[in-house]
Amino acid sequence: MRDQFPILQRTVHGGKPLVYLDNAATTQKPQVVLDALMDYYTNHNSNVHRGAHTLAAEATALYEEARDRVASFLGARSSDEIVFTRGTTESINLVAASWGQQNLQPGDVILVTEMEHHSNIVPWQLIAKQTGAAVRAVPVLDNGELDVESCLEMMSTRVRLLAVTHVSNTLGTVNPVGQLCAEARKRGIVTLVDGAQAVVHLPVSVQDIDCDFYVFSGHKLYAPTGIGVLYGRRELLNAMPPYHGGGSMIKDVSISHSTFLDAPQRFEAGTPNIAGAVGLNAAIKWFSSLDHEQLAHQEHALLQQATTGLLAIPGIQIIGTAANKVGIVSFIVDGVHAHDVGVLLDEQGVAIRTGHHCTMPLLERFNCTSTARMSVAAYNNAADVERFLTATTKATSILFS
Ligand code: PMP
Repeated sequence: MRDQFPILQRTVHGGKPLVYLDNAATTQKPQVVLDALMDYYTNHNSNVHRGAHTLAAEATALYEEARDRVASFLGARSSDEIVFTRGTTESINLVAASWGQQNLQPGDVILVTEMEHHSNIVPWQLIAKQTGAAVRAVPVLDNGELDVESCLEMMSTRVRLLAVTHVSNTLGTVNPVGQLCAEARKRGIVTLVDGAQAVVHLPVSVQDIDCDFYVFSGHKLYAPTGIGVLYGRRELLNAMPPYHGGGSMIKDVSISHSTFLDAPQRFEAGTPNIAGAVGLNAAIKWFSSLDHEQLAHQEHALLQQATTGLLAIPGIQIIGTAANKVGIVSFIVDGVHAHDVGVLLDEQGVAIRTGHHCTMPLLERFNCTSTARMSVAAYNNAADVERFLTATTKATSILFS
């Protein structure tokens, strides 16, 4: 597995082998994805959906093959329900701007949760301000689980949309999105699930979850940056106004008026990130070929190893101890800024993330301003976690001395 990731062979800080545990920020790319990008630009590069020549047909076929791959990966009913975007952030902004503009009125409520990434809060604030709607947040319990009871109570008649993360990027908590979407549906509430951290850790079926929208970014799933996905129920997408106007999304244009194609083209104005889609296709193909039972087992073992090891180091507290967690562990060290921990780990070759992880309301709820966060991917092993624990022990002893 590790041999398939060229970057994992490199060293940092004067020959220290790299231990990469910042996977919740972005994952490294396997050789097959790098090869797919190189092959696309070397052999097939062209613009899509227009042009009669061979390369245009090949590029279009590759781009649409990627859409088909994503549709089956997410269990969508049709490839028409898959819109390519730049990533999770753009997907949420698209829904907020397009669906929100059309459907929100003064007094309406958009329900988010306290554990959302900023990209699932700020776009809703922007559209709330324009439409007179309000944003409310479902609380998080002390162990980092969502307060589901409160969520159900907060789903009043004024709530038009529930935007909830499938997996918290800071806590690792897996939310019961199927249950929440079912309850929302009973009340006529539209649902958007942020799958940025979920698709790489859990099997996802949008039909099982029964959400209206599901979004994720390619780069957290072994694919390139700059490509992401918006899944939307076909009838909802086709009822929504365009987000961006331009080429490739119109049926007909005159100077006074334009008519638009159905989804997904309606939401893909301009030349898309074709190479990104090709890379995403290769990444999903590669990822889907792995033994997922074994991967889940390995991730659970690494999570246990990291959790037990961290708790054995004096002065460390883990933020987020939900019963259902993926391999993401946030921790704070008594009296020490997380950034200092991150720098000391980096000097030992261990890459983790420190900061607010774009979840400032969540950290405020836990009375802190930053955490150190380690997060695992398919290529991490027990030796990586051991090196992380040894480096953290050393870092804390330096910081406490
Ligand atoms: N939501 C979650 C849960 C995330 O972890 C992230 C990335 N940290 C995002 C949204 C935003 O993703 P992107 O920056 O790729 O748009």
